[in-house]
Amino acid sequence: MAPSASTFSSSELWSRAREVLPGGVNSPVRSFKSVGGDPFFVDRGEGPYLVDADGLRYVDYIMSWGPLILGHAHPLIVEAIEGQLRRGTSYGAPTGAEVEMAERLIGMVPGIEMVRLVNSGTEATMSALRVARGYTGRNRFLKFTGCYHGHADPFLVAAGSGVATLGLPNSPGVPEEAVRDTALLPFNDLEAVEDLFRDKGDEFAAVFLEPVMGNAGLIAPEPGFLEGLRAITEKHGALLVFDEVMTGFRVARGGAQERFGVIPDLTTLGKVIGAGLPVGAFGGRREVMEVVAPSGPVYQAGTLSGNPLATAAGNAQLRWLEENDPFPELESYGVRLVKGMIEALEAVGIPASGHALGSMWGVFFHPGPVRSFEDALQADTERFGLFHREMLQRGVFLAPSPFEAGFLSILHGEEELELTLTAAREAAEAVAP
Ligand SMILES: *Cc1c(COP(=O)(O)O)cnc(C)c1O
Repeated sequence: MAPSASTFSSSELWSRAREVLPGGVNSPVRSFKSVGGDPFFVDRGEGPYLVDADGLRYVDYIMSWGPLILGHAHPLIVEAIEGQLRRGTSYGAPTGAEVEMAERLIGMVPGIEMVRLVNSGTEATMSALRVARGYTGRNRFLKFTGCYHGHADPFLVAAGSGVATLGLPNSPGVPEEAVRDTALLPFNDLEAVEDLFRDKGDEFAAVFLEPVMGNAGLIAPEPGFLEGLRAITEKHGALLVFDEVMTGFRVARGGAQERFGVIPDLTTLGKVIGAGLPVGAFGGRREVMEVVAPSGPVYQAGTLSGNPLATAAGNAQLRWLEENDPFPELESYGVRLVKGMIEALEAVGIPASGHALGSMWGVFFHPGPVRSFEDALQADTERFGLFHREMLQRGVFLAPSPFEAGFLSILHGEEELELTLTAAREAAEAVAP
């Protein structure tokens, strides 16, 4: 395929974009605000690489923030979308591909017996919350500081107060009433959950969490944390909801629930299941999912839900994951990457810690251990910003935020690893204290 030269440079596009899009982007973190510098504009993706409008090439550790576990423009995904495209882009009537995709998700994710397809992770989590409330007849729910569950009102609660009973919105436009029933506690603090539920457990519809935190950097659950939440929710009749929009088909095929052996009542999915097209899903125990309309009274709907292009792409990627187990190899790449980065940083006197889990990885500019968002906030974010820029100049695209996980694809190989670690050693030198 002939590379298409972009007509406009990144800097031209950036100045035009800022006139017509708030902050120049359609999703905030793309703006590089937390690392400084200007974002590049993408011309195309090629396997593990992005090529920008100026023709510069980057090893991509974002992979569209998770979806592209087969890399950019994988032939299987391209073929699946092309094949469907000629038969129509949307019908508003059921298709076999939706049934196939549901069967696949049920087959691969331990906690899912029945599933509803939606268009984004945000839709999946806001719908799962409605289902949990409708099923239990309770309104309150618990989330953990630093866990991201999309941008629906009830989830946009500030971290830091430590007062579980007091949710305050952290975005103008979110009324206090919308988050009044949102309780907030630090991740990995089981005792705090026990204390809250001892008194108020029967007021709670659900406990929501990313079973492995990926939106505050990569933070793993400590042994016993997920098991403890399972026991507490069961005891008090609240639902345990794993938001696996990021970790599903990323930390293991069946997500964190497969990897850690703790089965939630409801699971939300997105990202990988759409292979780069807009898809989300929520599913769980049959008895719970049967409250969803039209089988039950809890309303949820979508003009484009189960979209044929999205299910074609999603089915192709999920089929590949059914037939292959890339996770041991992905994790070994991630472990070597993290070890090499930490060595590069520590060699010049920058304390660092981190780890890899399946196809996700993360490094904090912090000596560790990082057990919660509260810990992550102690990292040297300013130096990370400088490091990010130095890496970019050397052809490595890290997430433009110190609080994001990194993502791998099956096409990241020895060449990319070596390029990344060489860049990391040079970048570390350049930003040394
Ligand atoms: C990305 C993400 C979401 C939101 O998904 P969108 O498709 O961006 O709406 C929700 N939860 C988690 C854990 C995510 O990583």
